[in-house]
Amino acid sequence: MAAAGATLAGSEPARGQPGGQARARGGAGQPSPGALNGAGYPFSLGVASGSPLPTSVVLWTRILYDPFNAAAMPPLAMAVRWEVAHDEAFRSIAARGNALAAPELAHSVHVDVAGLEPGRWYWYRFMLGDAVSPVGRTRTAPAPDSMPAALKLAVASCQHWEFGSYAAHRHIAAAAPDLVAFLGDYIYEWGAYQRQHPGRAVRSDESYTLEQYRARYAQYKSDADLQAAHRAAPWILTWDDHEVANDYAADRDERLSATFAARRAAAYQAYYEHQPIRLTLQGGGYGTLRMHQRYDWGRLARFHVLDNRQHRAPQACTVGRGGSSSVYWRACAELRDPAREMLGRGQQRWLEQGLKESTARWNILAQQTLMAGGSQVPLVNGEAGRYWTDGWDGYPAARQRLYDALQGSGAANPLVLSGDVHTFYAAELTRDGRRPAGAGNPVLATEFCGTSITSGSRAQARTLQYVDMNPQLKYGRSDKRGYMLFDIGPERSRVQFLGLDDVRNPASPIATLASFTVPNSKMGSGLIKSATFN
Ligand code: FE
Ligand code: CA
Repeated sequence: MAAAGATLAGSEPARGQPGGQARARGGAGQPSPGALNGAGYPFSLGVASGSPLPTSVVLWTRILYDPFNAAAMPPLAMAVRWEVAHDEAFRSIAARGNALAAPELAHSVHVDVAGLEPGRWYWYRFMLGDAVSPVGRTRTAPAPDSMPAALKLAVASCQHWEFGSYAAHRHIAAAAPDLVAFLGDYIYEWGAYQRQHPGRAVRSDESYTLEQYRARYAQYKSDADLQAAHRAAPWILTWDDHEVANDYAADRDERLSATFAARRAAAYQAYYEHQPIRLTLQGGGYGTLRMHQRYDWGRLARFHVLDNRQHRAPQACTVGRGGSSSVYWRACAELRDPAREMLGRGQQRWLEQGLKESTARWNILAQQTLMAGGSQVPLVNGEAGRYWTDGWDGYPAARQRLYDALQGSGAANPLVLSGDVHTFYAAELTRDGRRPAGAGNPVLATEFCGTSITSGSRAQARTLQYVDMNPQLKYGRSDKRGYMLFDIGPERSRVQFLGLDDVRNPASPIATLASFTVPNSKMGSGLIKSATFN
């Protein structure tokens, strides 16, 4: 792929889209016949779908003629048509309508299509004037009382633009999953880095304002491979810190900025504007967004999508600033303060109820940060350790409350999915992560942590030390970028850790680094039955 100008051409141009060519200003391609005043192709950021329920799914697009120049958009509301069909050729229309793309929401379009049939695939597209968007494929969740034979689930996180290509997204699209779960760090708010992404060079300063966050999303979503992954299946999403600011905790950022509330609200609004999610505002404006949601996949799986950023207590024992650090267990009493929350009390109660009422075969906690114990120094007689304070290790009392909820609810087969640390981990979660599993320390859940789509990590030798030092960690791999692909069935769940040969190469092949199987069993197991390593 050429270094410049090649980012926007869809790898599979849809019918009705002129050659997939989206660059208008100064680009080599023909302007779309549907362009308003010859401004360009209005669907330059592609389409997306998500938040699937048995009879509804959210469709998304944003009208933007040039992903790198939002200022060229007229400040007018536009009427966008949409169609949902039973077939890719749109011969059998299931639903259609109009939606408004308003400048107040960056000309984003969210359509919550209702009245669909459970458990089936649909195709969708948008139209503005004569221009037709790329065609996306989506599906509804299975009927509530059904037991699907399989769920193919792709799990991804952490896609720092400058750290490489989005080849992993090309592989996600090719895998044709039923569902994609994205666990945070969809954008990184930081200023310019040395660029390894093959797309167009962008000089971007750190994001603080609504306009800056919008520009960042447009830049990321201009990538053809990311667009392909969105077109392939519905997504469910949660966020982590970098959608707003590094290591933020609720209303506090690293620099303890007095203006952080306004920055967070701008970032939250831009997040909503660019994702296929239902808007659940609490109070006025975008100061607070409800991100925790439940999604049922028939009786096979219940997704408890968690938000451990917005409601958490500040990281413990950070002196003179906000953000995270590494602390010795014994040296930081605040770490163990039982009043410190990770989910917040409301979300914790909601989770407890969702677990208690669940009849699902698999209870999947889709959330952002590593739950397994990860001491950075050897444990002495199963004691003490030194911990990074931004993940669940920084909130041990809240983690015990979550384990209490898992154990007390009787919810079947808990699976924890996580991201954030840019490392593949397979872990068996016990009540006490510092001691080996055993009679007094049963395994409560299995955790699989994805690596990153692009973002960098530590040397593999160091990760192997972590695995050696921490009894819950069974496998760790930090030298590969990629994603996790699950095959979830009534009798077992299997996951492949897929790693790219070279993240800088958009054509990079991908290979299975390891795979793990967790059998269906009564509450209290969660053991990994078989593992293979390549
Ligand atoms: Fe990250
Ligand atoms: Ca993160």
